[in-house]
Amino acid sequence: MDKEIPYKIYLEEDEMPKQWYNVRADMKHKPAPLLHPATMQPMTAKDLRPVFCDELIAQELNDTDAYLDIPAEIRDFYKMYRPSPLVRAYCLEKKLDTPAHIYYKFEGSNTSGSHKLNSAIAQAYYAKKQGLKGVTTETGAGQWGTALSMACSYFGLDCKVYMVKISYEQKPFRREVMRTYGASVTPSPSMDTKIGRKILAEHPGTNGSLGCAISEAVEAAASLDGYRYVLGSVLNQVMLHQSIIGLETKAALDKYGVTPDIIIGCAGGGSNLGGLISPFMGEKLRGEKDYRFLAVEPASCPSFTRGKFAYDFCDTGMVCPLAKMYTLGSNFIPSANHAGGLRYHGMSPVLSQLYADGLMEAVAVEQTAVFEAAEQFARVEGILPAPESSHAIKAAIDEALKCKEAGEAKTIVFGLTGTGYFDMYAYEKFHDGKMTDYIPTEAELKESFSKLPPQP
Ligand SMILES: *Cc1c(COP(=O)(O)O)cnc(C)c1O
Repeated sequence: MDKEIPYKIYLEEDEMPKQWYNVRADMKHKPAPLLHPATMQPMTAKDLRPVFCDELIAQELNDTDAYLDIPAEIRDFYKMYRPSPLVRAYCLEKKLDTPAHIYYKFEGSNTSGSHKLNSAIAQAYYAKKQGLKGVTTETGAGQWGTALSMACSYFGLDCKVYMVKISYEQKPFRREVMRTYGASVTPSPSMDTKIGRKILAEHPGTNGSLGCAISEAVEAAASLDGYRYVLGSVLNQVMLHQSIIGLETKAALDKYGVTPDIIIGCAGGGSNLGGLISPFMGEKLRGEKDYRFLAVEPASCPSFTRGKFAYDFCDTGMVCPLAKMYTLGSNFIPSANHAGGLRYHGMSPVLSQLYADGLMEAVAVEQTAVFEAAEQFARVEGILPAPESSHAIKAAIDEALKCKEAGEAKTIVFGLTGTGYFDMYAYEKFHDGKMTDYIPTEAELKESFSKLPPQP
């Protein structure tokens, strides 16, 4: 007999993982190396040193060690909000009248409201350990900036955030949370940096974009003594830190002898999805078990489903290294009506390689359908989900309904990455019927692909 499964599966503090899992160690085809933008040669640790923290560079380039110790100082911080609950969505199952078993790993119970704190605290720790004064970064929707502000204040580091201008204006409360934790927040593009001034001259009145804010943050870090740049997604190191999500999920499921059939996550730069699936993907790569993995992206920014697997710039200003990834082109800016987050043009090189190797699937969903799913979820499960997370909810509901049709009791696990309290502007548009769906045309994508750099 199966053990009765509680609504929430909590792990004990001492059951929390003490090591991160590095899925690259088990990949037969390793993700392609970052390339230097000037020489187009693989970036060495030395090349990366002016921009990134030393220890994080070592993690970024480490394709061989499967497990890396989580320093005790980071584990102590994790203990304040982890282990995060794995929730059995009994109420949603009942509402959908599905035989499927649905679970979600909830990462929104910390003040920053998302999983981003898992990597922010690690990155701040290594910056502090290196004796740096502070870090710079960009933020789009604001979750990363908030998480990093919290992490920096904990370790006494300065934090300079370049916030995409439209979010700066639409989410003033996010900005104030960051300032509460002592960060300085600048709308991007700004007049503070060379690249910001150039972009403003070329596109006066622009709303800004993540790619542009990244360029500004990198330039600021390089020009300030004792500062480095940190990034909240896409990079290998971020996915490594986020493996804590998947390790805890697996430990919780193992306690009750549950094996998932499908694991679902929303994909912006790929860090939560990558972290959630990592230990399960490791089993698949080692031939021990099989799972379906599903990335869910917005139809208005469809990197996996319509992008090209190619070397591309990570930023608009073309100052960052090139990564081989599914990309819509570094010039691609999602339509202004897109409210649902996940608006980055590229994708984690690790997930890109796994997707290219046929080890995972992807689906694109439209934002009104995403908000419908968000509302349906909120009304039965109680949690007000972030629009980003709601992409995963939408796909999980669709899979559960397929189970209903087929009469199959599959086990579905999805990542509920955060809460949506700061996204009420988007919810308001949805409620007022003013939310529209925008899907880029073939011609728009073709135009953007035509600006991809020459491939090595
Ligand atoms: C940043 C963010 C995402 C997307 O980022 P990934 O790196 O793809 O995980 C998803 N959900 C929330 C709540 C976020 O803040």
